[in-house]
Amino acid sequence: MSYNISITKIQQSKVETIDFNNIPLGTIFTDHMFICDYENGKWTNPRIEPLALIPTHPAAMALHYGQAIFEGMKATVDAEGNPMLFRANKNAARLNFSADRMGMPNFPEELFVEGLKQLVDLERNWIPPTDGSALYLRPFMYADEPFIGMRAATHFKFIIMASPAGPFFSKRIKLWAEKKYIRAANGGTGEAKAAGNYAAAIRPTELAKAKGYDQVLWLDAIEHKYIQEVGTMNIFFKIDGKFITPKRDGSILDGITRMSVIDILRDKGFEVIERTITIDEIKEASKNNTLEEAFGTGTAVGIAYIQEIGVDGETIHVSNESPVGLEVNDTLNAIKTGKVEDKFGWMTKVENELA
Ligand SMILES: *Cc1c(COP(=O)(O)O)cnc(C)c1O
Repeated sequence: MSYNISITKIQQSKVETIDFNNIPLGTIFTDHMFICDYENGKWTNPRIEPLALIPTHPAAMALHYGQAIFEGMKATVDAEGNPMLFRANKNAARLNFSADRMGMPNFPEELFVEGLKQLVDLERNWIPPTDGSALYLRPFMYADEPFIGMRAATHFKFIIMASPAGPFFSKRIKLWAEKKYIRAANGGTGEAKAAGNYAAAIRPTELAKAKGYDQVLWLDAIEHKYIQEVGTMNIFFKIDGKFITPKRDGSILDGITRMSVIDILRDKGFEVIERTITIDEIKEASKNNTLEEAFGTGTAVGIAYIQEIGVDGETIHVSNESPVGLEVNDTLNAIKTGKVEDKFGWMTKVENELA
């Protein structure tokens, strides 16, 4: 099936006004957005237009009942300046997984990828050229039907925005293992990238920050002992030479960085085990000096090293000797910028899509 995406270009690009050496986080948006409406049971009128405010009825259901989901991904450039997308089909599939859970319509995966490619082609001058920089892409869907009452909406918007992102070097972070608040319970929405999950995480994260931590380490909802994930990152530990990461049990987000890091680690010859992990086990490993590294993984930062975890008034210290995760991060970045062969077949080139 082919889609006809209509394009209305902006008269004067704002790209010249941007200092690519000093990009503020998440406040600069490119000239255009991709937008598509869902009505009468189908997606209609896919278009790229100048980014602008969208008139919204005060009864728009997303504002009241939270039918809103999102994705996050990055476009990078190779040495010749050709834009590329990283595993875009995985984001398309995950958006639809989230949509199913939230009672929202699926968005055609081909149109998702086609919309991304055309938008990125049009905004190619917005991809910061410096190493480690990228054009962050934010596809999302929300219920824009005006209706007071509890049922699935029948009108939705799907939009892709783009925002240039500078090189992100994460310092080693401190995590607070949270035993009062939870992020996700079995049967809940933890495996969906649903807006409401983040709303519920904001206050506990503020409280952790007030205690001097950077992020919350989420534990399971019942016993508060099984490790789930961090903020907007999945988590990995290296204990006694082996990598372990919490297995997908329906309450953690199926991170695309997570799945890629697992593949790269295995390719480098490391054993990676997906299983349940308790916070006590990590405490023990730290005491025995077998906790060799710990890091979070996600699109925004790539790999963020963990320095320590606060739990029950104690501090779990993480070693920082010859971290393998740094090597994995380099490999991931080299793949994303075409510096090494894309042997996993993860990259999609953005050609002259508009021609
Ligand atoms: C988006 C997200 C991740 C990371 O997913 P990536 O696809 O690797 O960016 C992990 N956990 C949560 C809760 C997230 O929202």
